[in-house]
Amino acid sequence: MSQQSAFEYIRHGQIPFFRLPLANLAARGSEAYRGSDAVVLGVPYDGGTTYQPGARFGPYHVRRVSALIQGFDPALKLDPFQKLSVVDGGNIALPPFNDAAARELIHAEIAAVLESGAAPFLVGGDHSITLPALRAVEGRHGPIAVVHVDAHFDTSGPEVWGESHHHGTPFRHALENGLIERGQLHQVAIRVTWKNAAEREFSDAHGASVYGMDEIDARGIEGIARAIKQAIGDRPTYVSFDIDAVDPAFAPGTGTPVPGGLTSREALRLLRQLAGVHIVGMDVVEVAPALDHADATVNLAAHLLFTGLGLLAIRR
Ligand code: MN
Ligand code: MN
Repeated sequence: MSQQSAFEYIRHGQIPFFRLPLANLAARGSEAYRGSDAVVLGVPYDGGTTYQPGARFGPYHVRRVSALIQGFDPALKLDPFQKLSVVDGGNIALPPFNDAAARELIHAEIAAVLESGAAPFLVGGDHSITLPALRAVEGRHGPIAVVHVDAHFDTSGPEVWGESHHHGTPFRHALENGLIERGQLHQVAIRVTWKNAAEREFSDAHGASVYGMDEIDARGIEGIARAIKQAIGDRPTYVSFDIDAVDPAFAPGTGTPVPGGLTSREALRLLRQLAGVHIVGMDVVEVAPALDHADATVNLAAHLLFTGLGLLAIRR
């Protein structure tokens, strides 16, 4: 199943991701996704946001601009939509004000995608959606490797807000619950200021590798990608891309921006340099379109997702 032509797309008046066919949304569970290699799903939940909300509208706007993307990727030299059967899985319908219920529904839907044999590609939503996604992926593949691109560690606990579940905590739960293999959390573009010097200790104590911006400047994004790829080997790998990893100059449409981040070129190059890894799922989160300018952020999010699909196509 490949893309609709531009004319078909305009004629239909619908806005599926990348002009793709829709999954069989009338079917239940994994039947909806039967026969697909990858399912692009919207997860419109931003109830875990601690600062400026708005990421629940990410899927709508990423869909809209993703129609501009033609299938052939000149850098990876393939068309993921020719090589793979990719469908738009719609959105996960969830209550915007019940985080426990949202986690259950996200887990169940992504488990259904995986049960069908397809890989989930998610558009958030805030970063709290990643925990149930990792739970589902771990349920299918066992403890995985994770490439986590973000300005923030997202390994906080309940100490700040009195809540242990929000967009600043998914990787703490994932590490504590053994969803990620020890030594296989690779955190890239981390640069947030910390409360004290000890804050990084959680990542260090759990064997995560942390690549800050100075190290990226010194070694180049290729050098970092090479190190990560070597560490991962052939492990099943999930990519979690918080758009605030990218500098606000390139990706202003996000709720907790931090200056001094990746360029959009570095972000795309990082993903391309991971070509060959065994990617089993991906998310792009924290895209808040109301804060965006000229679609810069949503457009980048669509291209990151497209590149991730290319990584899957290379392996098939
Ligand atoms: Mn994050
Ligand atoms: Mn972040």
